[in-house]
Amino acid sequence: MSNDEIHSKTETQRIDCTGCGQCMKDCPLELRIPDLIGLYNTYLAGAAVESLVPEYERLTSDSGKAGDCACCRVCEGSCAFRVRIGDTIAKISDVFD
Ligand code: SF4
Ligand code: SF4
Repeated sequence: MSNDEIHSKTETQRIDCTGCGQCMKDCPLELRIPDLIGLYNTYLAGAAVESLVPEYERLTSDSGKAGDCACCRVCEGSCAFRVRIGDTIAKISDVFD
């Protein structure tokens, strides 16, 4: 990981997701959005990507990967906490796909 990436990671705020799951019912790809965001928050907290990859593979074994997200943002209409899900899923894909 480059110095820029380390700086970027430490400067990034965790995603304020409660894990309520409301967004999932609207995703045409049935992505496990709260679980993926939870894993990403663990990464932002300092966990090594390599240690999280097995869980990412498990979470996406029976649904789509983050990279499959069409960024349609339909899910964002269901989020009472205004999480920018489309942008977040794209960042998750950058890290794990
Ligand atoms: S933006 Fe991505 S996660 Fe949200 S509904 Fe569309 S495909 Fe699913
Ligand atoms: S609706 Fe918002 S707060 Fe609830 S799981 Fe989805 S992203 Fe997280």
